[in-house]
Amino acid sequence: MFAQTLHLAQVGYAPGGFSPLYLVILGATFLASMLISGMLKRRFSEYSQIPLSVTGAQVAEAMLRQNGITDVKVISVPGQLTDHYDPVQKTVNLSEPVYHVNSVAAAAVAAHECGHALQHQQAYVWLGLRSKMVPAVQLSSKLLNYIMIVGLLGVGLMQSSTMLWIWVALFAVTTLFSIVTLPVEFDASRRALVWLESSGLAASMEHSKAENALFWAAMTYVAAAVGSVAQLLYFLMMALGRRD
Ligand SMILES: [Zn+2]
Repeated sequence: MFAQTLHLAQVGYAPGGFSPLYLVILGATFLASMLISGMLKRRFSEYSQIPLSVTGAQVAEAMLRQNGITDVKVISVPGQLTDHYDPVQKTVNLSEPVYHVNSVAAAAVAAHECGHALQHQQAYVWLGLRSKMVPAVQLSSKLLNYIMIVGLLGVGLMQSSTMLWIWVALFAVTTLFSIVTLPVEFDASRRALVWLESSGLAASMEHSKAENALFWAAMTYVAAAVGSVAQLLYFLMMALGRRD
């Protein structure tokens, strides 16, 4: 994936009601992600104007081939910043503004997604761990949504400390996932930059721009993880402080 987006529906809910501290945590997280994703979008559109000799799709094909990967397909998907690697289908999915476009931004994104394909090929341990966590994360997310809906309906459910501890446990699973995502994303960008450097595709000035675009993409994951940890700590404090 190239950028993390916040799911505020769930993230914005506080079991047992809002407190000033929780609103500060939430506001700071929201503000940081807005600023970072705004920065990423600005950099991305700026570096989309800097032409390269090859399109994102060609960058991806070349990077995969030169790393001896022949069973991964490069395909085009609709939308913006929808780029991702699918380990099940074995496809590098590039958004239209990346697939068809020959720019520094497109090359950076395409190489980053191929970085995930390389991780998969080499059984990179953090990617394996992240994939193994997916079913548990999906279940936890779903349960958090159910609890949130029941809580919002005003049922006194969240007054029980058992429920609060269940909430903390489920939230911990999604927080752990956002932390495990960090080495996976940083490593994919590192692999992308190593290849872009060795391919000679991008001159040094363009290389530093690709690096900058990848940096801001990684920061969206950092903001999401930090926000998630802060909320988890808050919920944990709440659960520990509850006496009943
Ligand atoms: Zn990624």
